Amino acid sequence: MLSLKSILSQIKRSFKQYKLNHLENNYFSKLMDALQTPIEYLKGIGPSRANLLKQELNLFTFQDLLYFFPYRYIDRSTFYKINDLPKNSSEVQIKGEIVNVEMIRQKRGKRLVATFTDGQNKMELIWFRGHQWIKESLKLNTAYVIFGRLNWYDNRPHMPHPEMDTLENFEKGFSTALQAVYRSTEKLLSKGISQRVIIKMMGELMRSSENPFAETLPGDLITKYRLIDKNTALKNIHFPKNQDTLTAAQNRLKYEELFFIQLQLLMKNLQRKQKIKGFVFSKVGDYFNTFFNNNLPFELTKAQKRVIREIRKDIGTAQQMNRLLQGDVGSGKTIVALMVMLIAADNGFQSCLMAPTEILAKQHYQSLKSMVGGLDISIGLLTGSSKKAERTQLAELLESGELNILIGTHAVIEDKVKFKNLGFAVVDEQHRFGVAQRAKLWRKNSIPPHVLVMTATPIPRTLAMSVYGDLDISVIDELPPGRKKVKTIHRYDSNRLKVFKFIADEIQKGRQIYMVYPLIKESEKMDYKDLMDGYESISRAFPPPKYQISIVHGQMPAKDKDYEMDRFIKKQTQIMVATTVIEVGVNVPNASVMVIESAERFGLSQLHQLRGRVGRGNDQSYCILMSSHKLTNEAKTRLETMTATTDGFQIAEVDLKLRGPGDLMGTQQSGVLQLKIADIIKDNQWLKTARSDAQELLREDPRLEAIKNTSLRQTLAKMKAYQNIWNYIS
Ligand code: ADP
Ligand code: MG
Repeated sequence: MLSLKSILSQIKRSFKQYKLNHLENNYFSKLMDALQTPIEYLKGIGPSRANLLKQELNLFTFQDLLYFFPYRYIDRSTFYKINDLPKNSSEVQIKGEIVNVEMIRQKRGKRLVATFTDGQNKMELIWFRGHQWIKESLKLNTAYVIFGRLNWYDNRPHMPHPEMDTLENFEKGFSTALQAVYRSTEKLLSKGISQRVIIKMMGELMRSSENPFAETLPGDLITKYRLIDKNTALKNIHFPKNQDTLTAAQNRLKYEELFFIQLQLLMKNLQRKQKIKGFVFSKVGDYFNTFFNNNLPFELTKAQKRVIREIRKDIGTAQQMNRLLQGDVGSGKTIVALMVMLIAADNGFQSCLMAPTEILAKQHYQSLKSMVGGLDISIGLLTGSSKKAERTQLAELLESGELNILIGTHAVIEDKVKFKNLGFAVVDEQHRFGVAQRAKLWRKNSIPPHVLVMTATPIPRTLAMSVYGDLDISVIDELPPGRKKVKTIHRYDSNRLKVFKFIADEIQKGRQIYMVYPLIKESEKMDYKDLMDGYESISRAFPPPKYQISIVHGQMPAKDKDYEMDRFIKKQTQIMVATTVIEVGVNVPNASVMVIESAERFGLSQLHQLRGRVGRGNDQSYCILMSSHKLTNEAKTRLETMTATTDGFQIAEVDLKLRGPGDLMGTQQSGVLQLKIADIIKDNQWLKTARSDAQELLREDPRLEAIKNTSLRQTLAKMKAYQNIWNYIS
């Protein structure tokens, strides 16, 4: 019998070997090209500035600097006349001369004032710092171009701390119509590394790179999209001549960025499939067939059937399946997982299902057990609170292979849990687990089991492509028939009595109610107090013995949680007061009202998950979002979205727009989203294009061995991200 540790090291070894093969590839030797030169070697930088740039902006090499793209541009093509200056604090540029400089002493400190004229009118330029040095450098009666933000005082314009260039320098310098603006920090500014200095460094970098930057994209793609070449793009992104050249540069670099990320993800997926052999579940046997004929409690939806077909295609070949199953809450993912488990059993393999909470694990255990009634399938439950005796017994059954299915929490991935032959592993509500935990499951055998990761937090397809590009994706995009849409309404706290009345009516009809309180940080005393206060006021409004109330929160011992949950499931209580611990998975079809307190404090995906707890039975269900009157715009949008739609994918789209991809659940671990120039949302179209181009390319040349793909291979080898991805494994 194999322990997890030995399996793990075996897998690691095979990946190491794989990495070595790549290292031998002589293209790797070119990693150390000129762009890897440390930044201090750039003219005008030196060690102390280099240190600042490293600390503050993470710029270590020429390459880092080259790819440090501006975040905006200012128009340097327009020159104002002083008389026509806009009467606000915008940034303007003026041509003129200085006719007078004087130091004015004030009560506190002094300021340097220069009188500047454009030939017709005059204005003042003011410095509050660096007087001496500036005073000495200012030349009278010399043509200057000044640039800066306006200040109006007494209807007269001033410009504090202008950027200045002599007209002569301005015209011959790198100065272009659009001037790049770079991200900076207070510290850099205070140490004299201004925008000007950064622009100078960029100019120096361009001059010092005598060899043009090598082209990285294949010619046919460049032609297809009429992209500009890499060299021009990199120059124009920092020093655009006009808006058109800038747009061309941005398009080229965005496409390139997305293309290489997709290429890398797709290649990794292909290689994984080739390198890692999977078990072949060649037959569909008695377990599956008997279940299908005798036990299946309903007809599967088209989407469920399609997904089962997709999975069967994977597991029927010698490839290891690594599939993400996305399906809205209530779409019926569990039965899909169960049916694949039965196929595993038909082929003599064990399965396991890992759930994020004890409540959920237990619920899966009970429902799976009842569904397979009459079949000779044995199912075990393992959680953090399993007793020692139970564990010992489970261990025996697992190692002898008598146990077909193990359901549990994280406990199932502990090293001491050994299977005889784990063939199929399911991870439910994967956003609750880290990538590392997923990977751990992966390594339970000498041959990794087929893995199905299920999530009810739908993420938009475009994002899924970039985050989970290494997984295949299946989607259940259809709810079982007869489901009534959950009616969602937003009520202010001042309407609480009406809401209570509504609850009482629903209870009268035999329904059950959830009331959820925010517990965003489990340790926050305030939240706990809110919950307890809420519990008390609900107890007063719904007094025993007529009403019984369950309460569940994160700080309770697991057995108390289970007890309270059980009472609710058995209809001994009508109201469940809880925190978001009930967010995932819990299935009580008779509960038809979800009241969410302080709904403005929840994120969209959380609200959607919570709403998914109702609408599971045949009755019309309701979700009531309670909030105070004080709402931020974002909170308003969230509540409006919830009342407008029940479509998880649509909600995820809004969520993505509101929060940006970095915040989305489960995506934090993914370095993939730290894009330098492209934007997953705005450049959606480019992303799709880049992905299909990468796919096509790999269909022709899966290992990029063709001569014409040499530069692609080189570029991939150089990508830092390439290494990051391997960190995932080692
Ligand atoms: P989720 O995808 O959120 O995990 P579940 O698997 O818990 O959803 O399924 C939700 C409910 O729908 C369960 O009670 C399940 O038995 C039921 N269900 C699943 N598939 C169907 C179907 N095809 N027809 C009717 N009910 C179904
Ligand atoms: Mg589920």
